[in-house]
Amino acid sequence: MTDTTAELEALLTQRSLTDPDLLAAAEAAADFRILPDATVIKIGGQSVIDRGRSAVYPLVDEIVAARGTHKLLIGTGAGTRARHLYSIAAGLGLPAGLLSQLGASVANQNAIMLGQLLAKYGISTVEGAGLSAVPLYLAEVNAVVFSGMPPYGLWIRPAPEGVIPPYRTDAGCFLLAEQFGCKAMIYVKDENGLYTANPKTAKDATFIPKISVGEMKARGLHDSILEFPVLDLLQASRHVREVQVVNGLVPGNLTRALAGEHVGTVITAN
Ligand code: ADP
Ligand code: MG
Repeated sequence: MTDTTAELEALLTQRSLTDPDLLAAAEAAADFRILPDATVIKIGGQSVIDRGRSAVYPLVDEIVAARGTHKLLIGTGAGTRARHLYSIAAGLGLPAGLLSQLGASVANQNAIMLGQLLAKYGISTVEGAGLSAVPLYLAEVNAVVFSGMPPYGLWIRPAPEGVIPPYRTDAGCFLLAEQFGCKAMIYVKDENGLYTANPKTAKDATFIPKISVGEMKARGLHDSILEFPVLDLLQASRHVREVQVVNGLVPGNLTRALAGEHVGTVITAN
């Protein structure tokens, strides 16, 4: 280990930071999982929270029951209010970085509301889930709520086209799960999972229980149930090598997915 560190240090002082030997030396240590027992769940904005009480209350009950046996990092989506903001801001000619900030404010609103519903169970909302007190919350009450939007704000890398921020709450939740080395990533939305086409508009769409990122791209499904940059993040991941998308409108689905059951669509890195 000492030798490896010395070698890396020498390379770091002499070479470009993208030098292949330097990159290989930086990879020498085994990957470390920060929160290996935690599962990240994303509660959809448009798909779940925007539906209000009928969709959210049953999930609150499932979350409260599940945290008896699971450690949960609960991220929130943004949804229709964010889309409304994006349309106004884009019409005003404002840039992606500003739209990213606006979207984050809506995901924050949803995190605040969900946190208040969980407050009496001792579950809090944290601002910026980049560690801070997250481990303590998990140790004490097994759950914490965070806003799913990644905090790029003005510093977001814009998409090649348009001003809609490409990394939104699906990506934010995935990145958190991956960086913390979490056990699993579950997306809670309003369809049973991935279909051959959008089931809201294509009546003949058929359900796909399991699929790889490569296959999704090959079948033209890369921009469907998850924000498309998540697929590349998943393919390049070290820890979270698959995600599951489940229908949170079906009672018990979240609980079963947390138990490791296959109730929706599993999307695998390869
Ligand atoms: P969130 O609320 O988490 O942001 P979205 O509304 O962005 O979730 O994504 C879920 C939606 O994706 C579904 O409600 C569905 O209408 C849509 N969708 C588009 N294409 C597909 C597909 N091929 N299979 C399943 N859902 C799809
Ligand atoms: Mg979405």
